[in-house]
Amino acid sequence: MPRFRQILDTMAPYRPGKAVAAPDGRSYKLSSNESPYDPLPSVVEAVAEGARQIHRYPDAGSVELTEAVAARYGVPAEHVALGPGSVTVAQQLLEAVGEPGGEVVYAWRSFEAYPLLADLAGVTSVRVPLAGEDHDLDAMAEAVTDRTRLIFVCNPNNPTGTAIRRRELTAFLDRVPEDVLVVLDEAYREYVRDEDVPDGVELYRDRPNVCVLRTFSKAYGLAGLRVGYLIGPEPVATAVRKTTVPFAVNHLAQLAAVASLRAEGELLERVERVVKERTRVREALVGQGWTVPPSEANFVWLRLGERTMDFAAACAAEGVAVRPFHPEGCRVTIADPEANDAFLAAAESFPHRC
Ligand code: PMP
Repeated sequence: MPRFRQILDTMAPYRPGKAVAAPDGRSYKLSSNESPYDPLPSVVEAVAEGARQIHRYPDAGSVELTEAVAARYGVPAEHVALGPGSVTVAQQLLEAVGEPGGEVVYAWRSFEAYPLLADLAGVTSVRVPLAGEDHDLDAMAEAVTDRTRLIFVCNPNNPTGTAIRRRELTAFLDRVPEDVLVVLDEAYREYVRDEDVPDGVELYRDRPNVCVLRTFSKAYGLAGLRVGYLIGPEPVATAVRKTTVPFAVNHLAQLAAVASLRAEGELLERVERVVKERTRVREALVGQGWTVPPSEANFVWLRLGERTMDFAAACAAEGVAVRPFHPEGCRVTIADPEANDAFLAAAESFPHRC
């Protein structure tokens, strides 16, 4: 047998959300925070047209897409770096700054890929417990040591949906030493409606150690094509370009992402519908007697403790796949009204509220 790195002994492969079906065949996948809508015809057309070129390597520099993203945010193209999903860009950042003995600080619970990426990069995870359902930024600032190389701030936080406001976040950034990279993971930014929640793209501009991660997987509906990006100071974007494998972002993903930016108005209308449903679902859950933290993302969070797996099973029996994080709670994606109603019915018939 080959000699694997020791860290692999304690690592489990990433477990994606799965679909389930009720006995009558109904199936609603609310476990991966995907868009519930079919791809836009204009995007499908761009992919179909691009399929004629799949015998060629893609544009390694993703030039057209990089320029389209830069134009969208009013930043120089040198401040944008693409990757096959923002999770890969996060991995590249850890590779770029991680070294043996280095530490990465993040809230817990937060995005479940952070510990995996830290282990892979050979850096030590420093998990700072949430205060209630929110980031504890004071404790995170206090957790920074000489060994800290990177801090993930997931805003809004996956899986709790809570978001950090401007004053707290800027005060935190002011406390972090400039040689520590702060990654504002904004995978769900398009769903934020609280105006006090800052856009990371505003915050990185006068801070050399702050960058933002965004994705086409959620609001833009391209989860299956894998494309995400970093916006940040030029040296950080350059580090991402250096740590990529050649041709990481495929041709179809690049074309679909460019077409999605062109059709952004239509996609953001869909986001608006999800946001409206989020309000409706949360109010209905509260009406049923559940405690639900306010969400600025396309999901809601139910803290279920030891009942987490029972709740997920009760939803599965109704054809509703939710994402259990045992023994903390379940994260449930907001989708179209039919799926949301199926979830609300399952939640209502669950015997113990929280
Ligand atoms: N960050 C957060 C907080 C996420 O929830 C996700 C997806 N679940 C990602 C990053 C990764 O997104 P992708 O790799 O699809 O761009």
